[in-house]
Amino acid sequence: MINDAHCHFFSSRFFATLGSQTTPPLPDDPAVAIPERLGWQPPGDPQALADRWVSELDTHGVARAAVMASVLGDETSVAAAVRRHPDRLVGMTMVDPTAADAGTRVLRALGADRLRCVCLFPAMHGYALDHDSVDRVFACAADAGAAVFIHCGVLTLGVRRKLGLATRVDIRLGDPLAIVPLASRYPGVPVVIPHFGAGFLREALMAADLCPNIYLDTSSSNGWLRYLPGLSLADVFRQTLETLGPDRLLFGTDSSFFPRGWQQPVYDAQMSILDDLGIDAAARTQILASNFDRVFGTP
Ligand SMILES: [Zn+2]
Repeated sequence: MINDAHCHFFSSRFFATLGSQTTPPLPDDPAVAIPERLGWQPPGDPQALADRWVSELDTHGVARAAVMASVLGDETSVAAAVRRHPDRLVGMTMVDPTAADAGTRVLRALGADRLRCVCLFPAMHGYALDHDSVDRVFACAADAGAAVFIHCGVLTLGVRRKLGLATRVDIRLGDPLAIVPLASRYPGVPVVIPHFGAGFLREALMAADLCPNIYLDTSSSNGWLRYLPGLSLADVFRQTLETLGPDRLLFGTDSSFFPRGWQQPVYDAQMSILDDLGIDAAARTQILASNFDRVFGTP
């Protein structure tokens, strides 16, 4: 059984939002023009994209995937996808908690729209995790039984780079140590730090060792390893499993666009590491499936 804790829902609205930021603006419908420019498949409406995702998961034997709204304000696309395939897709919304409408958006996303996780990008949206508004997101997540995902460390947005769009980030704001007070105040809220902290491995392990509700996801190619000479992804898995055990690691790929689809090579690379480390079947089940169910709930 495989559940993927980290995928992106690149909807038509996602591309339309990017299209509104290019200069000069694209002359055609950006939801078609941008994917075509990149050699990608235009997503169509959220239902069609949700169907595409589920057929891709079927092809690779993946049971469930958590899909993230990947620009602010796109949670309705993800909500439509989850309504269509509630047994296969878990919805995650992206929120800037300091925005005036953040409170109502989070309530609707975790309530009527049945999304299961709020994704925060403090370095990209320019706020400190000690801001009161972040505490309010955690309070909403606690009430709804939902999770909070917090991107820490380096942030690479490949699609923006390909389109020549600048992304200003202050990565000092994405320090896993700043999660400790929040995770401690809300011990019932699972907190997911993606990509092993994306360069802040030590800080992510320290935070997670202090707070049993912090999880790390394994997603992407983990290109941040180049900042730590001599460290391999196998070392990272070994160190994380030794420090936290297998019940706080969430398998993820960071899959996003079609036709590339679900990132089988990421899965294969990680499974061969687990083979080399001699990780037993019970621990694999936790990493690949049951931790996901604990963080996001079952359908
Ligand atoms: Zn991602």
